[in-house]
Amino acid sequence: MIDLRSDTVTRPTAAMRQAMVEAEVGDDVYSEDPTVNWLELRAAEITGKEAALFVPTGTMGNTIGIKLLTEHGQEVVCDARAHLMDYELSMVAWFSGCLVRPVSAPQGLPRWEHYRKGLRQSGYNNAPTGCIEIENTHNMLGGRVYPLGDLDEICAESRARGLKVHMDGARVFNAAEALGVPVSRIVRDTDTVMFCLSKGLGAPVGSMLAGTAQDTARARLYRKRLGGGMRQAGVLAAAGLIALEEHPAKLKCDHANAKLLAAAISEMPGVRLDPTSVETNIVIFDVAGTGVAPKLISSALKLRGVLMNSVSDTEMRAVTHYDVSTGDCLAAIDILRQVLLEIRK
Ligand SMILES: *Cc1c(COP(=O)(O)O)cnc(C)c1O
Repeated sequence: MIDLRSDTVTRPTAAMRQAMVEAEVGDDVYSEDPTVNWLELRAAEITGKEAALFVPTGTMGNTIGIKLLTEHGQEVVCDARAHLMDYELSMVAWFSGCLVRPVSAPQGLPRWEHYRKGLRQSGYNNAPTGCIEIENTHNMLGGRVYPLGDLDEICAESRARGLKVHMDGARVFNAAEALGVPVSRIVRDTDTVMFCLSKGLGAPVGSMLAGTAQDTARARLYRKRLGGGMRQAGVLAAAGLIALEEHPAKLKCDHANAKLLAAAISEMPGVRLDPTSVETNIVIFDVAGTGVAPKLISSALKLRGVLMNSVSDTEMRAVTHYDVSTGDCLAAIDILRQVLLEIRK
């Protein structure tokens, strides 16, 4: 199977499995796991934040990040297609007691001018805005990367108004690769950032939440409340360390493969895709013009050994990662072309 459903599907490498076997461990609820402690230190250094916390999932990292930056009854402004809003079981409401106030830009990523429209002043009828959330890269907008200028403006304007900024940086290493800058530059002005070790970086499990030392100490308590006190988690952190130290260098190849897919897919009849919009490892394309539902295309592909999900009634998504080679992508292109030809008859 050529699995292009997500970059979460990667299997741990031989080096990761070896590191897991040899990991030194302790009880992380007492902060006594040396491997987790080292991972947290390195994540803090790499993001340029004071501290970081190892959490089981990106969803938990976002949930805690928002909790740290808000009070009950406030609003969180984010893009209308944010992962936070659509795919995290309303945790902003459930755990932080806040309302999500979505904003959207007619073309792509919302900039400050769009975020600004979602802000609310407190008043007789308004709940005030607590924080701004930025997704970078943006999953459902096809892995788009925030230009640094736009990001700096959002953070500066937010700060000037006393608003906090959380970055859902599930794929912030992909953004760094695409921009050719360190992750620390991208997240420089955010209060908190979550990134996933388990996506393109290839760890089997885990995400990091980074911020101030004080916020991270509070985050540790929220993690425990949510059931994320993981005891001898060093076996997981050991794989996470390899993901963090060695795998950012591999993302270049994933991006090249995604561009290869995008260039070929954009030429297929009935497909709408601007290949220049593909900046990282996600290719979202519209198949409405084929007259065939994405779910049917997905099933037909599966029968021929390619896994690719539909993400809406008209769109499909292909995600590259280190477990699909350039050869796999070329094969997937051929199979998709054949399937689209046959299915339209
Ligand atoms: C995957 C993802 C997350 C978190 O996902 P988990 O499955 O909970 O680890 C958060 N934000 C974005 C944009 C994602 O793609």
